[in-house]
Amino acid sequence: MTGTLYVVATPIGNLADSSPRSIDVLRSADIIACEDTRTSRTLLAHHGIRARTVALHAHNESEAGEKLLRALREGSNVALVSDAGTPAISDPGALLVAAAHREGLRVIPVPGPNAAIAAYSASGFVAESFQFVGFLSKRKKHSFKELDAPWPVILYEAPHRVLETVAALLEHFGPERELVIAREITKKFEEVARMRLADAPGWLAGPHRQVGEFVLILGPRGKVPAEFAEGERVLGILQQAMPASEAAKLAAKITGVPRKELYASAIARDRQGSK
Ligand code: SAM
Repeated sequence: MTGTLYVVATPIGNLADSSPRSIDVLRSADIIACEDTRTSRTLLAHHGIRARTVALHAHNESEAGEKLLRALREGSNVALVSDAGTPAISDPGALLVAAAHREGLRVIPVPGPNAAIAAYSASGFVAESFQFVGFLSKRKKHSFKELDAPWPVILYEAPHRVLETVAALLEHFGPERELVIAREITKKFEEVARMRLADAPGWLAGPHRQVGEFVLILGPRGKVPAEFAEGERVLGILQQAMPASEAAKLAAKITGVPRKELYASAIARDRQGSK
């Protein structure tokens, strides 16, 4: 019998975010592969877990991976964790997971905290899809063009670069583009703020605002304002004759403005009208 590779999400700040299942899996694993064994020790000690730990990080992933694969083949269960959040998401682990699949070994995710998803869930963007880009730092400036999407785009950024990145976003996408800044999620100084790009440098200039961990979510490329205005005008007429959902659907068909946005607007009008 071969072992199972469990890909285990761990907290991104608040230790209480460990799921009961993640603790069970860590407790029963034969080996815990950690991005940094010292960092994971805090979490493991918190739950009284004393399993054998090995380091699996960006610089030793292939050789450490080989040893872990051998252990898996011999029947050991291995739990893979990173310093925080979900392994293999802007963190080591994907190479080991890929190798395990190549060998036909069982790979099981143990879902839980992830900074990108947590930030997106609290962003309030209403969209069919979103894009996760991760760290921009190694990208050339011209790749900012790739961020100009009709859906929200999620970035990770280090505190010492956040102001520079926000300034570059402002330069590329202009003052009206929306930005959500989520910092220190689940921690003491947690903040999620939605603003125009024009206001972001000022927001970051606030006390202690450039400290901690950041997720940035660039709002989607807007429709041409005239299109929106037309959508609103048509919606206003239709809404006098039919319910909000139908009016939004029809106005979206006529004007090309996304139905969800028109629906949100129709609901707001309804509320306004009933006051
Ligand atoms: N694997 C992790 C995950 O699932 O989110 C991401 C690891 S990546 C090396 C670390 C980056 O994630 C940080 O630089 C920051 O951009 C983001 N991040 C992690 N924890 C965060 C938190 N508590 N609040 C805001 N951003 C966070």
